[in-house]
Amino acid sequence: GQCIAVCPTGALSEVNNIPKVWSAISDENKTCVVQVAPAVRVALGEEFGLEDGTVSTGKMVAALRLLGFKYVFDTNFAADLTILEEASEFLHRLEKGANLPILTSCCPAWINYIEHQYPDLLHLPSTCKSPQEMFGAVAKNYFAPKIGLTPQDLTVVSVMPCVAKKYECSRDELGQGDVLDVDISITTRELAKMIKEAGIDFDNLEPDCFDNPLGESTGAADIFGATGGVLESALRTAYEWVTQEELENVDFKALRGFEGIKEASIDVGGTLVNVCAASSLGSAKKLMDEVREGKSKYHIIEIMACPGGCVAGGGQPYHGGDYDKIKARAKALYDIDANKPLRKSHKNPSILTLYKELLGEPYSENAHKYLHTTYFDKSNVFCENK
Ligand code: SF4
Repeated sequence: GQCIAVCPTGALSEVNNIPKVWSAISDENKTCVVQVAPAVRVALGEEFGLEDGTVSTGKMVAALRLLGFKYVFDTNFAADLTILEEASEFLHRLEKGANLPILTSCCPAWINYIEHQYPDLLHLPSTCKSPQEMFGAVAKNYFAPKIGLTPQDLTVVSVMPCVAKKYECSRDELGQGDVLDVDISITTRELAKMIKEAGIDFDNLEPDCFDNPLGESTGAADIFGATGGVLESALRTAYEWVTQEELENVDFKALRGFEGIKEASIDVGGTLVNVCAASSLGSAKKLMDEVREGKSKYHIIEIMACPGGCVAGGGQPYHGGDYDKIKARAKALYDIDANKPLRKSHKNPSILTLYKELLGEPYSENAHKYLHTTYFDKSNVFCENK
């Protein structure tokens, strides 16, 4: 992967991956599966004239099946998995009092930024792969054997609200040996184009459901698509693990909304945990300068490069700076969460089965093998905007 720090969302280096996806779908020697990020389902409808903030999950799944994907899965499944790993990692660090604040690692534009600008702080990002990558690792190393295939037999396509995800899936270390976790990533806009190219009447599709087991998710996964959501979901799990009590009010409202930096202090079993969610690289810079100077009071910092989070990502239908549109998308995600029977990642039954069958415990050796990664000092890598 070459440097894409030219633009935080990678939009300037956007490559058209549609032809690659068509040929992956028609390759008879491979089984082509698709995963869809949370923010896509609340924006895709805009491309087909639906009202802003329409949740079109069912129609989207139906369309993906008609396009020819053999299995239609959900990145949300891997978002739940990310929470189990990241909450465990945070609690390990908190216990040791080391490598705090933990920084979230779901956003490849942010990771690329810290690798270039703060190479002295690379011990701080969570080593968790992003949900896109965790999904690919689980699809190839857990799901493929379940259906009698090898990891090489599977092509994993991702539909993302993001252009930087294309660069992320090309990072060599994100895979097992030569087999990358994710093969091809397309944006929400590219998916809309494919649906149009195929002549599918999106509005009139009968809603369909994701395939299992990699299609099951809790509400905690949906809110990954809005700034503050990863942090809120991680707190739901960390709180219950530490206190062994049921968290009744799961809504951390202080972490919602569109301010560049939001903060809260949460009592987690007698320890006051200071958390902060930032969106935009400008906000990230402010926080990282404080961390570098040893002045940061936070234990956890979530950073998303796009102001507003992935709902406003560079791969989404163009919003033209219309914040009402972005707010409608975010509200739709919080509504999905509020209406789901399960809203805490550690309650996802398919995730618990995955641990039983492959990974063992969260943060175990096997979990590290498939779900964690490393970062690199890229301060000397040429970048046009440095
Ligand atoms: Fe991509 Fe989301 Fe990061 Fe934007 S905030 S660059 S959409 S991962």
